[in-house]
Amino acid sequence: MVVLLAIRYASLLLYLVMITAGWAYPVLGIGLLVIMAGVVLSGRRKKWCGSYCPRGSFLDLVMSKVSPKRPIPRFLTSRKTWAAGFALFVGLFGFQLWRAGLFGPWDGSSLMQLGLIFYRMCLVSSAVAVPLALWKNHRSWCAVCPVGNIMRA
Ligand code: SF4
Repeated sequence: MVVLLAIRYASLLLYLVMITAGWAYPVLGIGLLVIMAGVVLSGRRKKWCGSYCPRGSFLDLVMSKVSPKRPIPRFLTSRKTWAAGFALFVGLFGFQLWRAGLFGPWDGSSLMQLGLIFYRMCLVSSAVAVPLALWKNHRSWCAVCPVGNIMRA
C-alpha cells in the first residue's frame, strides 16, 4: 500500500515536471517512454492505468478534488468515439513523426525530437482531459485514452 502510494506520487511529480518543463527538456518525454516500456516488459501492463500512469495519478490525486464526479458521458464510452479518438491519435502522432523526419534516417537530434513529440501529445491530451474532469468526472479522459485502451486490452 505504501509502495503503491509512493509510485503514484512519484508519477504525479513526473507528470507535473513533464507538463511544465517538457518543452525545454524533451528528454522527459523519452523518460516517460522508457518507464512505459519498462512496465510493459515487466508484465505489469494492466496495472499501468491504476498505478503508474503519470496523468492517471494527476487525475486521481489532483483533479478528483475539484471534479463534480458525475457519471462519464455515454458518448465517451462508445466504441465509435474510441475508434475516432484512436485514429486521431495515430494520425497526429504519425504526422509529427513525418514532419520531424523520423521516418527517415535518424541523426543526433532525433531522439530529442521524439521526446518533444511525446511532450506535445501529452500536453494536447491534457488540454482535453482537464476540462472533461471539471465538467463531469476526473477520469472521463480515460474512457477514450488510446494508450489506456491499449494497455488494458
Ligand atoms: S487511460 Fe490513459 S490517461 Fe488514463 S490512466 Fe490510462 S494511460 Fe493514463
